[in-house]
Amino acid sequence: MIPKDHPRYLSLMIRERLVRGYESGIVCTQGLIAHGRGEAFDYLIGEKTTKAAMYATRAAVATLLVAKYPIISVNGNTAALVPDEIVLLSENINAIIEVNLFHRTEERVNKIIAHLKAYGATKILGKRVYKSIPGIEHERGKVDEEGIYRADTVLVPLEDGDRCEALVRMGKTVIAIDLNPLSRTSKTATITVVDNVVRAVPNMIKLSEELRYMNKRELKEIIDAFDNELNLQNVIKHDN
Ligand code: ATP
Repeated sequence: MIPKDHPRYLSLMIRERLVRGYESGIVCTQGLIAHGRGEAFDYLIGEKTTKAAMYATRAAVATLLVAKYPIISVNGNTAALVPDEIVLLSENINAIIEVNLFHRTEERVNKIIAHLKAYGATKILGKRVYKSIPGIEHERGKVDEEGIYRADTVLVPLEDGDRCEALVRMGKTVIAIDLNPLSRTSKTATITVVDNVVRAVPNMIKLSEELRYMNKRELKEIIDAFDNELNLQNVIKHDN
């Protein structure tokens, strides 16, 4: 039990959620390591949403709202950290959830689907896998034909650089959530939200409630004004 007045309470609670996810077979060992890297970057930005992150989040939500066929790709860490928020966001932006794992096993896919269903998700893809991302070998290239393969826009919280690049090469608009502004994922995504998924997804929910009343032209203006490279430079300069 972590005392609420512990100065690192929130960070420790996030670790707890991942450990519980690991014990129940949702999170893989590599996911725990990836979280460690994320934590280090989170520390450097003060464990809060920066101005640059919020700017990217706004562009991301506008992009998802104008998308024709948006998909939210969910891995083990995301399912362990923000299951209810992912379900709510998918409803708000009318996107389908696809469980898509870098370290894929059928057992883990099934466990994550059951976990998300317990949080209210109805339609979840990822079980039937028919297509491969061109250029990405074996298990980690597998995607659902009716999901990521068909999507025009994919939200990928915590994606690997290779796959992100390959999705962009397929002509998709890729929105990444990644605490490391220097990662290949951050550099190759169309829009990168450099923030912790535990803050970014709730921010996306709030913004989706605001932006959904805008018309397409207004949403397009938000999207066109956004420059990912410039925004990443602002993150690195720590221009809060
Ligand atoms: P790349 O392949 O993109 O160059 P990588 O190999 O470092 O990057 P992975 O190990 O595939 O990336 O994934 C870990 C990434 O996820 C790290 O960049 C880390 O910062 C990020 N990350 C981990 N936990 C979180 C979190 N809770 N919220 C946001 N980002 C996170």
